[in-house]
Amino acid sequence: MRLVIVGASLAGLRAAQAARRAGHDGELVVIGAEPHLPYTRPPLSKELLQGRQELEDSALPVDELDVRWRLSTEATGLDRTRRRVRLRDGAEESYDRLIIATGCRARRFDGPGGGLPGVHTLRTLEDAVALRAALAATHRLLVVGAGFIGCEVAASARSLGLAVTMVDIASHPLAPFGPALGERWAQMHRDHGVELRLGVGLEGLYGDASGARVAGARLSDGSSVDADTVLIALGSTLNNEWLTGAGLELDPAVACDRTLTSTHDPDILAAGDIASVPAALAGGARVRVEHWTTAAEHGQLAGRNALADHAERESHTAPPYFWTDQYDAKIQALGCPALAEETPLLELAPDGTRLVAACVREGRAIGVVAVNAARRLAWYRRALQTPQPLGELAAALAQDGSSLGNPGGARR
Ligand SMILES: Cc1cc2nc3c(=O)[nH]c(=O)nc-3n(C[C@H](O)[C@H](O)[C@H](O)COP(=O)(O)OP(=O)(O)OC[C@H]3O[C@@H](n4cnc5c(N)ncnc54)[C@H](O)[C@@H]3O)c2cc1C
Repeated sequence: MRLVIVGASLAGLRAAQAARRAGHDGELVVIGAEPHLPYTRPPLSKELLQGRQELEDSALPVDELDVRWRLSTEATGLDRTRRRVRLRDGAEESYDRLIIATGCRARRFDGPGGGLPGVHTLRTLEDAVALRAALAATHRLLVVGAGFIGCEVAASARSLGLAVTMVDIASHPLAPFGPALGERWAQMHRDHGVELRLGVGLEGLYGDASGARVAGARLSDGSSVDADTVLIALGSTLNNEWLTGAGLELDPAVACDRTLTSTHDPDILAAGDIASVPAALAGGARVRVEHWTTAAEHGQLAGRNALADHAERESHTAPPYFWTDQYDAKIQALGCPALAEETPLLELAPDGTRLVAACVREGRAIGVVAVNAARRLAWYRRALQTPQPLGELAAALAQDGSSLGNPGGARR
């Protein structure tokens, strides 16, 4: 059996490792557009940018996998009838089973000045190296987009002593966590010296007198911000173009069942940021999770499942989980915070630095967000396999002796 994996990053590597571990002794080909063997991205916005890690620390161990790595090689098309992946150089790779793990890329700013020198995005190792070098010569950084990557880079740049302005069209940072928690994140960034410009969009970037470098940005409220480096952190775009016309269901990620199998082809599975998979905490709706742990779990499961017939494949059942590190806060989330209508506090340490908030939709908890409360997450992981009436979750919590503390009935 010939197993081909497209995407040589976290999900693709975990799939290859799992397939070998599960006894696959046939051909194993991993096709990756980047020139590198797989590496891990989280340090790119944190330790690497802050100078606390070097490039080589991001490498993921690839073991003795007996893989044919086809790096610097982009898949450009998929012919399911002939079971072939078409490559940029005109070559093809045939497969018996295919795992799609092509993830996302950083969205660019296509408006005025988006191509000026000094304007960065952050997704790859090269991006991180370029941004790190730029920050070493920067006085004032403008971060456009207060999502996870924007907030992490703002925090890293403050740790380097740079002046940082962060702009977002939303009224608060980390929009998927909702406005109540958003107020906390906003305060955290202000407390660390970031100038926040919320509720305003980016109209365009302008260059210096010679036009050789970015010098600032015009915002939608008519104001402008000077900056000698700009990070565009406006989210991501799926790497799904190569699947156009292949007849798979794209929503626009690869629509899968719980076993990570494409809804339209039992010989094709997907894993990681590119996969859209039913989640119990979303009431069985398909969700796409753009975070590390899910990509690793998907990869492991897809690698095993690709060896089995469809009827014998296992389901992915772990709730979505992710973390982000900003300043001295480790923010972790379980479940589907982006679908929540409110985020009442469940636990609050007396000094206010640690908390757990529920993510509630239609009266049911569908996830939690924790700040500096990593140990508490194990309890919620057990308690929250499916949506739980908030009252029942609160009652179970009241019986549990290890809570951080009562938020005093605060339903914020
Ligand atoms: C800067 C940064 C910081 C992050 N920090 C955190 C964090 O703190 N916590 C957290 O939970 N998550 C974090 N993440 C998210 C996490 O890294 C991703 O969820 C994870 O990388 C997804 O892995 P993946 O293998 O699915 O996709 P990707 O890592 O996107 O890899 C996809 C690979 O496929 C390749 N590819 C794309 N198209 C093709 C093609 N046509 N042919 C061949 N190859 C192709 C790409 O070049 C890429 O190498 C961070 C991400 C970034 C960028």
